[in-house]
Amino acid sequence: MADCIFCKLAHGEIPTTFVYEDDAVVAFRDMHPKAPVHVLIVPKTHVETIEALAAHENGQVIWGALLLAIPKVAAALGVSASGYRLINNFGRDGGQSVDHIHIHLLGGRNLGDRMV
Ligand code: AMP
Repeated sequence: MADCIFCKLAHGEIPTTFVYEDDAVVAFRDMHPKAPVHVLIVPKTHVETIEALAAHENGQVIWGALLLAIPKVAAALGVSASGYRLINNFGRDGGQSVDHIHIHLLGGRNLGDRMV
């Protein structure tokens, strides 16, 4: 999508360093990291919301690709053994600020401030 920052990053229109890439997914570091490791796992396909994903003809494939990338991203960042946290922000009350679905992966320190 033309004015989507994550589309531009995922498709190389804005330079960034991918910590992981496959046919369907990229991962890059969050510009405002909340932990020593904080990356965003992003589908190459533009999907704005979880509702749009559920209605998308390839929604299962897109979501599956995101989930299956998680351990590979964690391994690339060296946090597989130490552990990490995933965060999804959906919609305005959920704190979603970029309307292109993504998963936050945080680690590199003890994230003891758990909510659940
Ligand atoms: P969310 O609030 O869940 O939508 O998360 C969006 C995240 O994208 C925020 O943590 C931002 O810091 C991050 N972000 C926005 N623009 C960029 C960018 N150009 N490069 C890296 N991270 C970004």
